[in-house]
This record gives sequence, structure tokens and C-alpha cells, in this order.
Amino acid sequence: MHNIKFSESHTGKEHHQLTIAKEPSDEAKCANDIHSKLNLTRHNEIIKVTSGSEVQELLTAQKYAGCSFSIAGGRHAMGGQQFLCDGILLDTRGLNKVVDFCPVRGLLTAQSGMLWGDLVFHLGELNKKHNSDWSIVQKPTGADDISLGGSLASNIHGRVLGRRPFIADIERFTAILADGNRITVSRSKNEELFRLAIGGYGMFCFVEDVTIRLTKSSKLQRKVELTNSKDLIGRFAELQSAGARYGDFQFCIDASNDSFLNNGILSAYFPVQDDTTDNTSDIKLSENNWRELLRLAHVDKAKAFTTYSNHYQRTDGQIYSSQTFQLSLYVPDYHESIDTERVESQNRSSHVKASEMITELYVPRSKLHEFLQSAKIALKRQCADVIYGTVRLIEKDTESFLAWAKEDYACVIFNLHIDHNQLSILRAKHSFRTLIEIAHELNGSYYLTYHRYATKEQLLAAYPQFPSFIQKKIDYDPHGKFRSTWFNQMCLTVQAD
Ligand SMILES: Cc1cc2nc3c(=O)[nH]c(=O)nc-3n(C[C@H](O)[C@H](O)[C@H](O)COP(=O)(O)OP(=O)(O)OC[C@H]3O[C@@H](n4cnc5c(N)ncnc54)[C@H](O)[C@@H]3O)c2cc1C
Repeated sequence: MHNIKFSESHTGKEHHQLTIAKEPSDEAKCANDIHSKLNLTRHNEIIKVTSGSEVQELLTAQKYAGCSFSIAGGRHAMGGQQFLCDGILLDTRGLNKVVDFCPVRGLLTAQSGMLWGDLVFHLGELNKKHNSDWSIVQKPTGADDISLGGSLASNIHGRVLGRRPFIADIERFTAILADGNRITVSRSKNEELFRLAIGGYGMFCFVEDVTIRLTKSSKLQRKVELTNSKDLIGRFAELQSAGARYGDFQFCIDASNDSFLNNGILSAYFPVQDDTTDNTSDIKLSENNWRELLRLAHVDKAKAFTTYSNHYQRTDGQIYSSQTFQLSLYVPDYHESIDTERVESQNRSSHVKASEMITELYVPRSKLHEFLQSAKIALKRQCADVIYGTVRLIEKDTESFLAWAKEDYACVIFNLHIDHNQLSILRAKHSFRTLIEIAHELNGSYYLTYHRYATKEQLLAAYPQFPSFIQKKIDYDPHGKFRSTWFNQMCLTVQAD
């Protein structure tokens, strides 16, 4: 069944999580992911592209004949999807202009390197100029410097309720194919590529710009309550029936307490009249508050959860604008001060670099409580260090080729602390595999974005179409112009005995 012929250009050799730079002088050619910082990769060249025509020229240039390209936007994926050892990295962040806006239909076209924070800002300006009132439907939570192209390539989701992943918000995009041709891709033009590239991790084409569907703006009121994993799905359903448009649940991370992965804060957002006045003051967490919360999540988890839930409960009833409420602060390099504190408090002689890695599991909603109970036992047994965790909902995606939302799932996100040494990385790999196993036993699945640790059995159980995905990749890109560390590893995983 998996009898696909791979050329060396498709599989490559490298498949380790840590791809270390060869020499310090290579630094300018090295790139790493933002969050885990466990994907340091040396490229032959990093090119900051500023137009689609430039990409077309690069893909067809004699100088780069035989070379492979990887594509990086905001660099938040953690499975090496945006990097390629000794490849040419196309950095899209210079492609950051609004291309078109239709205030009548609520469509916005922006270049693929546009980051969500900038996109929300530009949309606000366009609304003012055109006297319109459009908002984005969803964006990734937790960070604003994720690009539109990266979001398309991972088929992201936010905390919107009753909605499919990002593919539902995409009207069309402009693609530059491996042979340099530029085409429009939508549900009616090049439909197969639409399904392959969205969620296809940059393996089919370079995305030049994306047209997204917007939603009418409104004021939203946040409702906050404490609940537990057993009642959660029922509460989500009640809140949705009462009109909640967005919502998520942040669970307790203190493994020494019975509340671990059980009790948490459920926030839901309801549309209210535009003239509703905010009777709370504008309570929000500053960068310093976030730094302190992240520190506490490492050194005093009980206090971290109490502080967090107290803060959220104080915001109950607060009014937000749908145009901006999805923006969120990501504290860059927050781990450095935590690492320093650990050296001092633990009397360590040397600095141990560390970070967090995310994993996301999907389970049928009726199985959420069961999943969290089993995850609780496993993570406690493995002494996994959970720094934060969230539950959200997603509706079934029937369009993308590599669909991760195969059902109306509950999505469970864990952010695990990882010391940057082989033992700690191996332990995380073990925890991630265990969580995938638990989800699989409950007819669930997992997200490909965050790591490439799944076993062959796990990969094929969650994504049985993966061998066909590889075959399609070869059909569209026979010379392996677009490649990545992640794709190479996936090919090796599928081929493994
Ligand atoms: C703190 C944090 C919070 C997150 N929150 C969420 C969340 O709430 N929901 C969610 O779904 N995900 C979330 N993610 C995951 C993140 O949204 C995805 O990894 C996304 O792909 C990252 O986009 P990026 O711009 O950082 O792209 P990169 O990480 O640079 O690249 C990701 C993929 O996109 C491809 N790509 C980028 N640009 C293009 C282009 N122009 N053409 C073709 N391919 C391209 C790359 O080749 C790569 O395969 C989070 C990640 C972090 C670290």
C-alpha cells in the first residue's frame, strides 16, 4: 500500500530534532523556530523575498537549478516544516502588503507574509476609510506574529465556536508552482490544489497572497465561569445555544492537585448591542503580568492557576471589540529569565537552556473527560511538566486533503516544558506519543504542526491519506523544489518497517 518511489530529493537524510549549525560563522544562514527553539537549521542561503515575481525568478533561475526551497513565515511551527538543512530558505515576512479589500463583500486580500497583528491593524484602518465594519473570523490564539501563509499551510484554527478550521475562511489564493507558474487557486479554479495546499505545509506551492472572508464586527461580552472537564462539553453546548461565538477552557496545570486537567476557567464571548457600555474597567494582563504568570507556571503551578483564574474572573462581563479581541501578547524570550532563575535557585553550575513545546490532540467531544482522565494519569506517571493547557472546539473539515478536523472534535492543547538536552527531548517525545495513543484509542487524532514524533502507526492511523499526500506532492513537484525537514521525516516515517 505504501509502495511509493521516493527520490533522494524527496526524503533527504536529516531527521533529527536538533540540526545544529556547523560553525558560528554560519549564523546568518541559520534559522530556528520561535517557541521551542529546537529546530536550529543551517541553510545554504536565506532570501527575504518581497514579491511573487522574485519567487518565480528564484524557482526558475539557473543558479538554483537542482536546489530545494523551504518557506518560512512567522516560524512558529515546531516540526521543522519551514526549514531544510542545506536548502534555500524563502523568508516571506517582506511580503506584507494589503492587496485588495472589498468592503461590500467583506473580502480582504493580503500578501502571505502578513502577520495577523498587522492584518488586524490594516483592517481597522480600511474600515475607517470605507466606513465599514468587518472583523477577522479567527486567528491562532497566543501569538500575533503568525503569518497568513503559515496559517494557510497549517490550516490553523482559533477559539471561534461552530466553525471549521481556517480553510472555511479562505476564498482563494495566488500560488506559485514549482515550475514558476503563477495561478489562482479557489474552490472553482484548481480545486485539487486548494485542498492540498491548505494544510499542506508548503509542499505544493509558494502562496503569494490570500483572500480571506471576513465577518461583521460586533461588540462581545466575556462570560467567565469555573467548571470541570466532566461538565465542560455540556456547558460549551449550552453557551453556544445561548449565542456564544467564541470560547475556550484553560485547565489547571498543578499535577500535585486533584484539579489537574480537571478544573479550569471557561470563557465565552457573546455578541451584545453596539451601544452596550462597559461597566468594568479595562482589565488586562500586561507583559510583566504574563512574564510573572509564565514564571509561576514553572515554579509554583498552584499559584499560577489561582492567579490566572482570579484575573479571568475579574474580567467577567467585560466588553470587547470583535475587531481586536483575538489579539494576544506573546512574550518573546520569556524563558531566558526562567532559565537564569533555575540556575540560581537550584545551585546549578551551568545554564540549562529550556523552552516549551506544544502538542494538540483531538477527541470526539463525548470522550473529552475520559481523555483528560487518562492523560492526567499518564502525564503524572511520566512527571511531564505542563506549563499551560487549553480546550477548544472545532467543526468537521470536509475540504482539505490532510484534514485534521475529521469530526466535530474537542481540541486539547498541552504546552510542555523541555530542557534542551537529549534526555528531556526523549521524555517529551514519549509523552507526546502517549497522548497520541490515548487520543487514538478514543477515536481521536493529533495536529501535525507541533512536532514530528508520531510513530508510523500513529501517523497512518490519524492520517491514512498520508501516502497519497506524498504521491500528490511528487506529482505536483517531481523535482522536489519545495522540501522541508518535516516532509523528509514524514517520508522516512511512512517508509519505516
Ligand atoms: C505560541 C504559539 C501559539 C499557537 N497558536 C495556535 C493556534 O491557536 N491555532 C493553531 O492552529 N495554531 C497555532 N499555532 C501554530 C501556528 O499557527 C502554525 O504553526 C502556523 O503554521 C505558523 O505560521 P507561521 O507564520 O509562524 O509559519 P512558519 O512556522 O514559518 O511555517 C509554517 C508552515 O507554513 C508554510 N508556509 C509559510 N508561509 C508560506 C507561504 N507563503 N507559502 C507556502 N507555505 C508557507 C511553511 O513552509 C511551513 O510549512 C501556535 C504556535 C505557537 C508557537
